[in-house]
Amino acid sequence: MDCRITARQVLPGIFHLSDRMGMHSTLIVGEREALLFDTGYGLDDLKKAVAEITPLPYQVILSHGHHDHACGSFQFDQVLLDEREFPVCEKYAGSFRKRVWDQATAKGLDLSDWREEDFLSRGYGHMQALEQEVFHLGHLTAQVIRMPAHTPGSIGLYIPERQLLLSGNNFNPTTWLFFPEAQPMADFLSAMEKMLALPFRQVLCSHGDAPLDRARMEDFYRGITMENIAAHALPQPGLGFGARVYGFAPAEGMWFCFDGDKLPPAWREALMKNHPFPG
Ligand SMILES: [Zn+2]
Repeated sequence: MDCRITARQVLPGIFHLSDRMGMHSTLIVGEREALLFDTGYGLDDLKKAVAEITPLPYQVILSHGHHDHACGSFQFDQVLLDEREFPVCEKYAGSFRKRVWDQATAKGLDLSDWREEDFLSRGYGHMQALEQEVFHLGHLTAQVIRMPAHTPGSIGLYIPERQLLLSGNNFNPTTWLFFPEAQPMADFLSAMEKMLALPFRQVLCSHGDAPLDRARMEDFYRGITMENIAAHALPQPGLGFGARVYGFAPAEGMWFCFDGDKLPPAWREALMKNHPFPG
């Protein structure tokens, strides 16, 4: 079958792969080996897509365990992820597969390569605790950035030779911080600071097609203040698993949704006074 994944080289040795659900994985190809970051929704043949780009050996590493990043993990012998993500991956990449199938059906995707029960039973592959902090791929290096925020074991990667940050789900044009396992806003801001302390020039997001300039992420970070949240964040009822989710635009063209109950107390009080959550 055709792999049905679109690959685009965004920088030398850096390939951004898009599946038919619009989700991205990133393949980093050094001179000796490669590294695949995330496995997408798992409906398309990611392994074949990698084989079409490089014959080199490679490991697979997950930014976190949510279904849109981890459902394709069954295609590989093992996936590396922060140990704190094991329960997240078991929950989402294991039992959210029906939700993925229904979303794909609703999008009108051709699923004739699959029998529904096969997809639902594929699981999340063999999880291995990520202990390595640096991957030397041969003239390209991937440094692991551990940053509990979007989930407890979320990571990003920094590729110094390309001054490129892979932010996983801790920064996207639309960033979500409201799943039950999301960490407090203070931890999210620490994660942003940890990323911005790196000398990257561009950031490649899991939910974005092309690298963004560093300035876009700086604008996003600067927009997340108590004053902005109290003035502009509005309730987003129905979005988040029973959490009181609010959304606002920290910078032009960007959107941030967060759990209002995970704000620092003074921020929360200021927000709830201006925009109480309905119900
Ligand atoms: Zn996620």
